[in-house]
Amino acid sequence: MSDDRQYGFDTLQVHAGARPDPATGARQVPIYQTTAYVFRDADHAAALFNLQEVGYIYSRLTNPTVAVLAERIATLEGGVGAVCCSSGHAAQIMALFPLMAPGRNVVASTRLYGGTITQFSQTIRRFGWSAKFVDFDDPDAVRAAIDDDTRAVFCEAVANPGGYVTDLDAITGVADAAGLPLIVDNTSATPYLVRPIEHGATLVVHSTTKYLTGNGTVTGGAVVDSGKFDWSASDKFPSLSAPEPAYHGMKFHETFGPLAYTFHGIAVGLRDLGMTMNPQAAHYTLMGIETLSLRMARHCENAVKVATWLETHPKVAAVTYAGLPSSPYAERAKRICPRGTGGLFTFALKGGYDACVKLVDSVNLFSHVANLGDTRSLIIHSASTTHRQLTEEQQVAAGAAPNVVRVSIGIEDADDLIADLDQALAGI
Ligand SMILES: *Cc1c(COP(=O)(O)O)cnc(C)c1O
Repeated sequence: MSDDRQYGFDTLQVHAGARPDPATGARQVPIYQTTAYVFRDADHAAALFNLQEVGYIYSRLTNPTVAVLAERIATLEGGVGAVCCSSGHAAQIMALFPLMAPGRNVVASTRLYGGTITQFSQTIRRFGWSAKFVDFDDPDAVRAAIDDDTRAVFCEAVANPGGYVTDLDAITGVADAAGLPLIVDNTSATPYLVRPIEHGATLVVHSTTKYLTGNGTVTGGAVVDSGKFDWSASDKFPSLSAPEPAYHGMKFHETFGPLAYTFHGIAVGLRDLGMTMNPQAAHYTLMGIETLSLRMARHCENAVKVATWLETHPKVAAVTYAGLPSSPYAERAKRICPRGTGGLFTFALKGGYDACVKLVDSVNLFSHVANLGDTRSLIIHSASTTHRQLTEEQQVAAGAAPNVVRVSIGIEDADDLIADLDQALAGI
């Protein structure tokens, strides 16, 4: 690739971060299946450990295959750097880690992936961190929830599973006014549909398990940094602005400027938390990401067809898909995600909980699994599975009420998907 041309998304999803292998000329990115890298000499080793020279030391920190994926995701999101992790949930902990300390909190949307609600409402408490959940449709409520101990604001661009689109511009305004970074989980939308950094987000997190890989083969995650946040503007982020005791007193922001957060994520986050992506997983995700835009366009097109058909079905009480003109988020979607609102939505059955269970047992082409963003169409009854740990109130707020099923529409023929749902609905 030449450096003087601004390549388009479809070109970057195939090429960004990769070049023919310098050792062999291999055109596809090799899987560097190695734990360690030979130092040229003792001075080289010392320079690497001091972060004076960038290079490979040990694959818990960096690996050439994983590095290509990190650069590709950062490029597609419009960020300056990214850190790949072993899963989406690992990426969320990694994203918060440099910002948080015991007693600090994150203000988060009530409309988040069920697993994130559990991670934030229960597990992070063991670190002394906490989350305050508020309705992100009410920017005043977000503003009111922020206190002196808040260190981040967290939401999803297009929320899984309720067909909800966040007004990222409004939430950025609130986070900026409070001097806080906005973290956006962009798993459901992908950078093809929404680029949160263009709406002012500081950090973007991904479960690469989903659309970025696209075919349900590996788990992974990523944290992308916009490079735009001034970590030294207040004393709220000492890990980045002040001497970091975990890295012999290095001042990351002063030393690395816009790359401070990414370097901290590798040098301290991956080094000490060890939530590293392995090179095989990076390879599978690189294979998938090459076709991201083609798949997302088809996911969106199919989802519109299936949702439109479901909306008129007599056994269906409601369909929540922001891509439907009937959605309360239809106007907002045009501004935030003009190319489409993805392949995920929920629908409610008039027959309630029992009808939902019968439906997931009656489909043939749809797979009943706890995953999303696969080329295959998937279905799940969230209230009895992914959102089972939540209270009914939390389920309803997250768009996963007991009478609701979630579908992740694949890239098959839309007519076949409709026929499968038609026969399954006929039996309930
Ligand atoms: C799946 C998912 C996660 C968690 O990712 P894992 O790779 O399963 O750990 C986080 N956020 C969203 C929106 C997801 O869909």
